[in-house]
Amino acid sequence: MSAGQAGCLCGLDPSVEYEGPRAAFATLGGSPTWGLGDRFHEFAAARGHARLGVHRPRTPYGLGPQVEHYRGPSGREFLRVPTYGQVVDEDPLLRASEWKAFWILWKAGVRVLLVGGTSGSCDWRRGAADEDAVRPGDLVLPKSYLTRDTMPTGLPGTELEFCLARQVAIMDDPFCPPLADALRSRAGRLPDFRFRRVHGPDAGVVLNRWLAGNGFESLATCRMLEAAGRQMGMPVITGDCVSPVLARVCGMHLAYFHVVANWGTGLEPEDPTITLNRLYLETLPAVAATLELAFLDAVSEPTTCRCRELLRVRPPEYARALSPPATT
Ligand SMILES: [Zn+2]
Repeated sequence: MSAGQAGCLCGLDPSVEYEGPRAAFATLGGSPTWGLGDRFHEFAAARGHARLGVHRPRTPYGLGPQVEHYRGPSGREFLRVPTYGQVVDEDPLLRASEWKAFWILWKAGVRVLLVGGTSGSCDWRRGAADEDAVRPGDLVLPKSYLTRDTMPTGLPGTELEFCLARQVAIMDDPFCPPLADALRSRAGRLPDFRFRRVHGPDAGVVLNRWLAGNGFESLATCRMLEAAGRQMGMPVITGDCVSPVLARVCGMHLAYFHVVANWGTGLEPEDPTITLNRLYLETLPAVAATLELAFLDAVSEPTTCRCRELLRVRPPEYARALSPPATT
């Protein structure tokens, strides 16, 4: 397969073996802990989480992101890949960062994946009396998602490259409900910090996926999402979101939390960069890192959700209805 067909600069080498650490629990980090820079491990160490090693595994798509291996106070081991697997100065789409990150997690045996994000609210309810609205300062455990890009749904060069004929991912409950409950209760027990409001899946908030881009949404996009949310009766937030389909296809329960940092660009007459930098550097890192560490050290793999069941096996006839693989 040529580099062009692989969709990245790096070509595709299916023969690469995974040589990094293994664990059933992992986090892809995210913007809530950006303010810690490269010091997440120091924050973790002060709370009894030892960083056992730092790795840089090769993947079929080129050199992967950093993989940190931790052991928490309970003895639980988990992996951390900083910021969705993105590498500084590398275009995430061009360098296939989502494929690389998920290939690593899949090969590492990860079953529970925690991801955090920050977002802009496009809730149509912006009056002072709209107490139920999704506002800056809130924590959201989204119900569903929208996507503006063609997001990755498989892992090229593996048995998961294109598995639609063999198994189909039904995208009800893209964000594991029992894990959302666990995040909600953890967030309510944070020391010295209270979110203005926590919106659980029952609030029906939709996360508009856009993982990699050099800008915020335009006013027109935010107005469109505001109108769509009002029409659906489901408020929309805009922010980073890894592919829920890819997580499901890889057999992972996806736990997603979002901290609403601002109103969608242009919906209010504010410059979000001013409040965002203060929020990211001063308030949020310690709160989000505390939440992530407590969750990863204690949560169990859920047994009452439908995450595995919703990856439905299909009759063998469907795969035989496609051309067979080349034999040479
Ligand atoms: Zn689940």
